[in-house]
Amino acid sequence: MAEEVRKKEIAATKEMKKIMAQHFYELDEASKTKKRKVAWCTSVGPAELLRAMGFLVYFPENHGAILGATRKAMEYIPYANRVGYSPDICSYTTSDIGAFLKGETPLSKAYPGITCVPKPDVLAYNTNQCRDVLDWFSFYGREWNVPVLGISTPRSVGAVTKDYVEDVSGQMKAMVKPLEEISGRKFDPNELKRVLALSLEATKLWKACLFTAAAKPSPVTFFDMTIHMGPAVVMRGTEEAVAYYKLLLPELQERVKNKVATVEEEKYRIYWDGMPIWGKLREHADFFGSLKASIVASTYCNSWIFEAFDPSDSFDSMARAYTELFIVRTDEVKERYITEMLKTFSCDGIIYHDSKTCPNNSNARYGMPQRLTKKTGIPHLIIQGDLNDLRLFSEEQAKTNIEAFVEGIEEK
Ligand code: SF4
Repeated sequence: MAEEVRKKEIAATKEMKKIMAQHFYELDEASKTKKRKVAWCTSVGPAELLRAMGFLVYFPENHGAILGATRKAMEYIPYANRVGYSPDICSYTTSDIGAFLKGETPLSKAYPGITCVPKPDVLAYNTNQCRDVLDWFSFYGREWNVPVLGISTPRSVGAVTKDYVEDVSGQMKAMVKPLEEISGRKFDPNELKRVLALSLEATKLWKACLFTAAAKPSPVTFFDMTIHMGPAVVMRGTEEAVAYYKLLLPELQERVKNKVATVEEEKYRIYWDGMPIWGKLREHADFFGSLKASIVASTYCNSWIFEAFDPSDSFDSMARAYTELFIVRTDEVKERYITEMLKTFSCDGIIYHDSKTCPNNSNARYGMPQRLTKKTGIPHLIIQGDLNDLRLFSEEQAKTNIEAFVEGIEEK
């Protein structure tokens, strides 16, 4: 029954799996042979700068998501807890550190021959998303005696003023000299322009893919896009990412044209705010499908749209793009953004995932759901859970609440 409500898989998925495999094998080879330098980067960190300086870039948060999706997180989190990383902090961090302490990675199963995550030559962070990334990277900096460089971005930003941009841009520029020393390569502004142009192209294509879901019925859902966002996150700044979204976009547009829906007889359209519950993606896709409800848009997937990138003004435009991010902003800005999305995607409801170990991506704790419902008339539901730690998620309770929520929309 559950499978019946899901429409056919997206054909481009095969290509995505291929390029993701190439990404990990390339990193593994660099780590083993030392022919290329490896930089670890936070998911909304200065990836373009690292690439422009010749580093291969690895994203531990992507590894965290794999730990969640493979449901290995619960096995590893206690190892991190034992060395002092609280069960209350980011479960990407604790599951990743725990896997390292246990000497395992799910990459081994997915990609035969890979036995461990690639060892970094440098760790580069941006605290625009949270402080946890600094603690996370600092752990590995100590373990491997590797430099940890980064950017401290102000949080709860209203208007992204010139002062903010200059502050962040200045911190990025200050990374150049130490990165030159680590990479043994001189910074080339033209190479940064080239990488940034690729990143901009990929981000625009990614946005276009996401916005195909504004069509009725929606050709994709949030659950599909959490998978297809892989290249937008880990390969931004490369030709592979651009090529991938050039392949995916026409397929989605074709689905729109032919009214191919991911959810058969789509009846309700819902916005998802907060992190995915990685270990339950497939179940949730099937469950919402069985209710004829499409999750058509999300704050999470939209977070890798960086339209402010401008190759003719590399540093300042990167600073602006990485500070204009949803997660960095005040509730006022966030509410304006969600209101616009609810309209663009013709949503009937909004679900807030209050992720226990990621307060940074949880927007249900300071009255936002109530304010937005009052303003837009669109009902909301808050579900308690976690991105990786399924011990913090009650499936039965969530399902009951979601069913009641959808019934409420129907009555409305
Ligand atoms: S934003 Fe949340 S999930 Fe991401 S690294 Fe920070 S605490 Fe973890």
